[in-house]
Parts: sequence; C-alpha cells; structure tokens
Amino acid sequence: MIDTRVLVVGGGPGGYVCAIRAGQLGLDTTLVESGRLGGTCLTRGCIPSKALIQAASRFDALTRHVGDGHMGISLAAAPRFDLAQAVRWKDGIVERLSHGVAGLLKKAKVRVVYGHACFSDAKTCTVTRSDAPPLRIRAEHVVLATGSVAAPLPHLPYGPDVLSSTEALALTELPRRLVVVGAGYIGLELGIAFAKLGVEVSFVEAQARILPGYDAALVRPVEQWLRTHGIAVHVNTRALGIERRADGLHLSVQTGADPARTIACDKVLVAVGRRPCTQGWGLEQMAIDMNGPFVKIDARCHTSMRNVWAIGDLVGEPMLAHKASAQGEMVAEAIAGHRRAFDPVAIPAVCFTEPEIVAVGLTPEQAKAQGIAVVTGQFPLAANGRALTMDAGADGGFVRVTARADNHLVLGIHAVGAHASELSGEFAHALEMGAVLEDLAHTIHVHPTLGETVPEAALAALGRAIHI
Ligand code: FAD
Ligand code: NAD
Repeated sequence: MIDTRVLVVGGGPGGYVCAIRAGQLGLDTTLVESGRLGGTCLTRGCIPSKALIQAASRFDALTRHVGDGHMGISLAAAPRFDLAQAVRWKDGIVERLSHGVAGLLKKAKVRVVYGHACFSDAKTCTVTRSDAPPLRIRAEHVVLATGSVAAPLPHLPYGPDVLSSTEALALTELPRRLVVVGAGYIGLELGIAFAKLGVEVSFVEAQARILPGYDAALVRPVEQWLRTHGIAVHVNTRALGIERRADGLHLSVQTGADPARTIACDKVLVAVGRRPCTQGWGLEQMAIDMNGPFVKIDARCHTSMRNVWAIGDLVGEPMLAHKASAQGEMVAEAIAGHRRAFDPVAIPAVCFTEPEIVAVGLTPEQAKAQGIAVVTGQFPLAANGRALTMDAGADGGFVRVTARADNHLVLGIHAVGAHASELSGEFAHALEMGAVLEDLAHTIHVHPTLGETVPEAALAALGRAIHI
C-alpha cells in the first residue's frame, strides 16, 4: 500500500509532465504507467511518425538527384530504402527519449510504478504488475491522463491487413499498395510518407475534402502535391468492408449514392480519429461526470469529483501532445496551491503533410463568424529568399496573418509550406503576447530566414508589404 499526495495515471506527455512539475514543487508524487514512459506520443505517435516522415522525405529528396542531378549533386543510382533499418533508427530515438523521461522523473523524485491502475473509488486504485504483486495506492489528489486509442471502424476491424497507425509505424516491409481510410492528420501524414517511399497510396475520405478540419486555402497546396504525385483521393466516400480474394485484398467503398466498388490493395490503414481511453480502469467507480465520451473538466482541469483532475486526450479536442503537457503543468501548480487556469489564447496545431500546415488562432472565416471585422495579409513563400535556397517555395506555400480591423490585434496566423512547422512557436508567441500587426511588422527578423514572411504578411495586412 502506498499513500501519496499526488497520483498521476498515465505517463504520456500529459501525465509525465504533470508528475515532473508536481515533483519539482515538492509534492509527494506517484506516476503509474502500464506501457512505456512517453505514452502514445513518444511510443507510437508524434515521434515515430515524424521519424518515418523525415526518412521518407530524405529518400524522396535523394531521388531528385538521380541522373542529371539537382543543385549540382547527382547520384549514379537510385537510392534504396530499407524499412526495417529505418524502424530500428526510429526505435532508437524512442528508446533514448523514453529513458530521458525516466531520468527527468527520477530527478524530480517522482515514484514510478509500472503496471495497470484500476480504481475502486475516486482516490484508491490497485496496480496490476507483471513482475510484482498488486499494489494499492491511495492518493489525496488524482490526475487522470490515460490518453486515447485509435477508433476502429466496426465493419473494418483491425487485423493483419487492416492497420491502425501503431501497426503502420511498426511495419518492416513496405506494402505495394496501401489504402488509407480517413484523410485527417494521421492518414495524410503517414499516407504521404508511404507515398514518398514508393508505395501506391490512395485515400478514402468520408467528407467532401481532405483535412476537413482545416481552412480550405491551407489545404490546397497539399491537394496539389497529391494530384501532381498521382495519388488517388476518393472524397465523399466510405469504406464498407474488406474481402480477401485469390488475387489479393479488395476494399469495398461507396461514393455518395453511387454503387459500391472495390479498390485492390495489400494493406489498409484506418485513421478515422481517436477515442478517449475511458474503459478498463474503473472510471465508472469514480462517480465522475462525463462530457460525451470525454471526462468533463472545468477551466482548471478539475473533474466533478473533489481533488480528481483530468488532462490530455482523455478530456477532449484538440488531442495534441502540447495541449496535454500544458494542462499537466498547470494542474500540478494548481494542486500546489498556485492560482492557475488553462486559458491559452490559442493552441497551435501543425499537420506534418507535404507541405506542412500550421494553424494558430482564428481564420478570417472563424473571426467573421464571431462578428469580428478583420484585415488579413498574406505573403507567399515563393517570394522568400531562404525558402528558395532550401529548395522550397514552389509548393504554393504562404503565411497569412488575420487581425482585428479596428485595433489590429492579431487573432490568427496560419501557414502552409515546406518547413512551416518551425514557425508555429513564433505564431503562438505573438498571439499569447497580444501582438498587434505593427508589433509583427516592426520586429526585425534575421535575413535570410523563413521567419521574414511574418513581418511581410503583417505589412501586407497594413497595405504596405515590401517584397510583393
Ligand atoms: P497518451 O500519450 O495517450 O498517454 C496515456 C498513457 O496512459 C499511455 O502511455 C497508457 O499506457 C497509459 N495508461 C492508460 N490507462 C492506464 C492505466 N489504467 N494504468 C496505467 N497507465 C495507463 N500530437 C501532436 O501534438 N503532434 C503530433 O505530431 C502528433 N502526432 C501523432 C501521430 C500519431 C500516429 C498519433 C496516434 C498521435 C499523434 N499525436 C500528435 C497525438 C498525441 O500523441 C496525443 O495527443 C498525446 O499523446 C496525448 O497525451 P496524453 O498524455 O493525454 O495521453
Ligand atoms: P482526424 O480526426 O484528424 O481525421 C479523421 C478523418 O477520418 C477525418 O477527415 C474524417 O472525416 C475521416 N473519417 C471519419 N470516419 C470515416 C469513415 N468511416 N470513412 C472515411 N473517412 C472517415 O483523426 P486521425 O487522423 O485519426 O488523428 C487522430 C488525432 O490524433 C487527431 O485528431 C490529432 O488530434 C492527433 N494527431 C495529431 C497530429 C499532429 O499534431 N501533427 C498528427 C497525428 C495525429
């Protein structure tokens, strides 16, 4: 039996950050993790997917140097790709980062218990461990951070041929043909990476366009990339089921009210969203109010049960690692008695597609829908010197700033383009600091950098861009 001040369940980016901060604040803290420290994000999400995307992009870039070459660099033969080796490289990164998290928890004097926690009441759980007897933990404060799992499609159950992102990221052999069901974050990020590696990829998306959650103008360059690479995108289309025939797998799909048809393939990746992990750990014993499928929280991430807190994917959209971490840090400080609330101006989001999409704050349409009159300014990456020297800028990319028309307060900054993800911090910072267009326009940016597009877009909104 352990008595602890703070019990954190789940060692993902929400839970482990919460535990580290609680430890730093001198709170006696216990973290329970049933899998690996780092959670979905580190083990089978953000980091593994970005490793695969990086390997695929490097391979794709190298293929442009074959023959006559490019930038003065030519390769005599086409590069070869070994997925098993790439997966080992990715696993090495995961291993290193997971050990890093263990080290940080140790430094913060957090007690880590490996096993599956199951609650018998709101403050007591039993941890089932593979290498030791069950352990009961009683806590003054409980932080629930159990994350999420891939949502299945009932008529397309996961199996050897129907993969979730977890299995797709652990493949050791490339399929020849891959159908991706769901052209959202995961489907597009992984689908594009596999396409760059030479896999014949096609997308099946239920909505009228890919990445339906993003502003259409931002998605256009991605649609253009898919088109120029001959990748089939079936929108308004639903997957009905899978059939194995003598000549291989056939996914049956239906577009609108058209008759059903089949797409021949070797593997199917289902990426139709994720659902909170609310089952199998005694949530029902805790008498906590729910918000649809998610745990209901207030502005401090406090649940309806006294001293029970919840963070990350478990509490709803956006299901992003940095949101989980920010909530985790905030909750630890709230438990320590600090006056804190989770009230960001914006939660930045990046889709690591080709090209990358960045969204921070309101789009012009969202602002208008709130009755706010806006001015916008847009600057193309094709007019940015650094983008061209990085062999980018030809993909239709741009940075767009949206501000209030009356006082120029910046409401949103959005971008699409190669390497645009690295600008997301600057965008978020501007919004959090309450920047106005003139702040962005008059901040001297290093030349030549992609960041120069930000003052240029702000100047464009003020009607006086220099380089366009
Ligand atoms: P999780 O990371 O899911 O961690 C929850 C942890 O709780 C798990 O380790 C689990 O084992 C543990 N757990 C659950 N129940 C119990 C129990 N009863 N007892 C003990 N332990 C338990 N987000 C981004 O911001 N950027 C990205 O680029 C990005 N890429 C992604 C790519 C993929 C393929 C996927 C699947 C997700 C991606 N995400 C990305 C989303 C990101 O991974 C999640 O938003 C984030 O991991 C949520 O953190 P969390 O702490 O809430 O939960
Ligand atoms: P998603 O919500 O981004 O996309 C799911 C897509 O599947 C949508 O476009 C939806 O219209 C479509 N869809 C739903 N049902 C369908 C059906 N029956 N047939 C065909 N299409 C269908 O979900 P995801 O891609 O699974 O990712 C899950 C979550 O993981 C994301 O919401 C995000 O929070 C997180 N994530 C983030 C990143 C990142 O930050 N770069 C990367 C990957 C995942």
